[in-house]
Amino acid sequence: MTKGASLSEIHDAALQRLRQSDQRYTPNRRKLVETLHEAPHPQPIGSVLEQAAGLAQSSTYRNLTVLENAGVVHRIVTGDDHARFELSEDVTGAHHHHLVCTQCGNVLDVALSDQLEDLIHSELALAAASKGFNGQHHRIDLIGECVTCV
Ligand SMILES: [Zn+2]
Ligand SMILES: [Zn+2]
Ligand SMILES: [Zn+2]
Repeated sequence: MTKGASLSEIHDAALQRLRQSDQRYTPNRRKLVETLHEAPHPQPIGSVLEQAAGLAQSSTYRNLTVLENAGVVHRIVTGDDHARFELSEDVTGAHHHHLVCTQCGNVLDVALSDQLEDLIHSELALAAASKGFNGQHHRIDLIGECVTCV
């Protein structure tokens, strides 16, 4: 995904969020954030461990959960057993959507046009208002089969 924020801005945002959750921004957590920042698409934990050499599996699970609870990392649940992880939109500032493959579980980031985002935004605002719902942000995933699984 094209990142809106720079890596140092992302680190600053991550630090703030972890502080709000009474958590420390440890070197391993920084490394996880950097790995997810460099990844072109949401990653399963196996790929995260491969790319961030030296991290132990058990602590990485725990650190991803801490980062997720602090709002730094977003977990995408897919059809297979392996959730994908990416930096949250709040941290990157890069709003986007997902193509989720039901066969292999891969998730691709895609951006929609500003025109369509505006339309989605106003239609959802109307739908929310009709239910007295306080809408904050939207997530829309397209479920299907990726190019290698079709
Ligand atoms: Zn696939
Ligand atoms: Zn994404
Ligand atoms: Zn959108």
